[in-house]
Amino acid sequence: MTSDYQMVWDNCLRTIKKNVNPQSFKTWFEPIKPVLLDREVLTIQVPNKFFFEWLEEHYVQLLKKSIRQELGERGRLVYHIPENGNGHDALKSALPKVSGKPSSEKDSEPVPGAFDAEMIKNPFVIPGIKRIKVEPQLNPNYVFDNFIEGDCNRLARNAGLAIAKKPGGTAFNPLVIFGEVGLGKTHLAQAIGNEVVSRFDNKAVLYVSAEKFTNQIIQAIKNNSVNDFVNFYQMIDVLIIDDIQFLSGKQKTQEIFFHIFNQLHQNGKQIVLTSDRAPKDLEGIEDRLISRFKWGLSADLQAPDLETRMAILEAKMEDEGVDIPTDVLEFICYNIKNNIRELEGVMISLLAQATLIRRDIDIELAKEVIRNFVTTINKEITVEFIQQLVAEHFNVPVEKLHHETRKRNIVIARQLSMYLAKKLTNKSLKSIGEQFGGRDHSTVIYSCKAVQDMMDTDMIFKDTVEEVEKKLKMSLNT
Ligand code: ADP
Ligand code: MG
Repeated sequence: MTSDYQMVWDNCLRTIKKNVNPQSFKTWFEPIKPVLLDREVLTIQVPNKFFFEWLEEHYVQLLKKSIRQELGERGRLVYHIPENGNGHDALKSALPKVSGKPSSEKDSEPVPGAFDAEMIKNPFVIPGIKRIKVEPQLNPNYVFDNFIEGDCNRLARNAGLAIAKKPGGTAFNPLVIFGEVGLGKTHLAQAIGNEVVSRFDNKAVLYVSAEKFTNQIIQAIKNNSVNDFVNFYQMIDVLIIDDIQFLSGKQKTQEIFFHIFNQLHQNGKQIVLTSDRAPKDLEGIEDRLISRFKWGLSADLQAPDLETRMAILEAKMEDEGVDIPTDVLEFICYNIKNNIRELEGVMISLLAQATLIRRDIDIELAKEVIRNFVTTINKEITVEFIQQLVAEHFNVPVEKLHHETRKRNIVIARQLSMYLAKKLTNKSLKSIGEQFGGRDHSTVIYSCKAVQDMMDTDMIFKDTVEEVEKKLKMSLNT
């Protein structure tokens, strides 16, 4: 047996890799760090409790198998969840008992009590009142089915789904979904609510914007009915508050919310919050609230990559029953990058234009529409733009194109940028060379030839060049 935890873990990973698809491997196993090996116990660090639960639920047998393969029948795995990974409990034994059970049996419960919400009787709710039907205020269109999964939202989406299946019964309480505007916070938060409603008919779900919540409180204070207000909120099983950054600076509202939060949390009720920034970056919100926001899981939504944008838009169009040529779809998604709401906006205008003026939906029309959405459009394709796009495509930092290097992929990226600059701009050889760290015109000629030669002999490279060229032309800069 080796004493090197890294090596043991690497070997485990090799086994695991063979047994899961690459995407899952990347999502769930690459972020794991081995930290300690003590006899037959390997400690691995996972980013947060959510990971721990996910691994336990989906991969426990595989983990068990691989760890035993490495460390023998008594091999065990212990998880370490770092403090800032929203764990209070530092160590969790994943495989408490490993003795002779058949491997199909699920014998992998987390440490007893680790995640059990403490059940305390709610002193406020009068028996009988519990039955009152609460109108959830949900938009039925926001569901998981039409919330497309991508790298940008995988953690948040999966955590949301886990919660919807077991409201209040996971470690993700509260779940804080944060991210910039238009990336799907409201959709996801509502999808959780809708999913709970469809799965359980005895759970009171309530969606409310932080703004509305605040107004209700102001009203309640006016009417002297804060107690009723608080009592009402305490009956909720799944409370979803959207855009909590709105509570910033509103002291009285925060105080009342703090009270409601504690009661719900203590009673094992689920709280879902959305915010335009990470809890730690919220300003004007009391520390005691922020620290509670960090109790569960904070999961961010990022800007989606091209494939995800296309999948989202395609799904939306299918919903609308509209057929849009793929190149137009692609064109729009190339150009609207940061905001899904904007993506939809473009699409809707496009449809409107097409119906109103009876024009075919084509790239020309799409360009016209997008111009209303994108503020800066360069009329001309520039050398810088080419460099940027090529660097992005080859996944190299753009500055590298200016420096001397022998790294093959950088050399190729640089030569290709020069080739495309020559082909797609009116710049002279001399000025192109200058924009690549002050090279002279002969380097540019040499690069163009090199690219041409490679294209003639290497089909894959030729495809790459065509793809990049297409991207450039697709972009609004043409
Ligand atoms: P936010 O609340 O973060 O500002 P929204 O939830 O309002 O964003 O989302 C903006 C639009 O983008 C909505 O119409 C939503 O349906 C859509 N959207 C966002 N993410 C996705 C996704 N992953 N799949 C499908 N639609 C999405
Ligand atoms: Mg929103």
